[in-house]
Amino acid sequence: MSLPLLPDRDCGGCVECCRVIPLNLPELAKPTGELCAYCVDGAGCSVHAIRPQTCRVWFCLWRVVELSDDWRPDRSGVIVRPDGVEDGIITLYVVRPTEFLGGEDFFATVAGWIAEGIEVALSIPGPVGTYPARAVVTDWLRPAVEAGYHPAFVDRVLRSLDRLAEHDFQPDGVTARYAVAS
Ligand code: SF4
Ligand code: SF4
Repeated sequence: MSLPLLPDRDCGGCVECCRVIPLNLPELAKPTGELCAYCVDGAGCSVHAIRPQTCRVWFCLWRVVELSDDWRPDRSGVIVRPDGVEDGIITLYVVRPTEFLGGEDFFATVAGWIAEGIEVALSIPGPVGTYPARAVVTDWLRPAVEAGYHPAFVDRVLRSLDRLAEHDFQPDGVTARYAVAS
């Protein structure tokens, strides 16, 4: 899926998807959670001109919809995944818990999505090389959203993440392979 990107927004120093998104292509395979060996700290993709097609078309929703700068995944710890959006589901992939989850911006945005009838899922990564855990939490969050009660919303988000952390994470079966021609 390729969504139209917002103009005047780029990834900057964020490389979160080069770490947490699994790839299993002939020229590039990397387990979930392993930072791509082509990713250079502070400089981004070292094979940018010849990067795989998957890398060219995969963007988190921070690149697509009007979310504040604080939502940039390396700042917020949250990757808003693009998959599922066309079916009315937004998955918040919490790759790292941060104070952002307790902030007004996160609450107002998620509450707005739920009020619009969008389903919301929370997801977390497991150990490197395993599939993430994920659960739809719309109905669990809805009472706090409808009451406009921020502390209860945060509490329910954190309790959801704690439950997800108990998940029996399964291996993704991907063996690292770095063979993009240079
Ligand atoms: S090839 Fe480049 S864009 Fe693709 S995962 Fe690796 S560093 Fe990221
Ligand atoms: S997670 Fe989003 S903002 Fe970060 S590098 Fe990937 S597409 Fe860019």
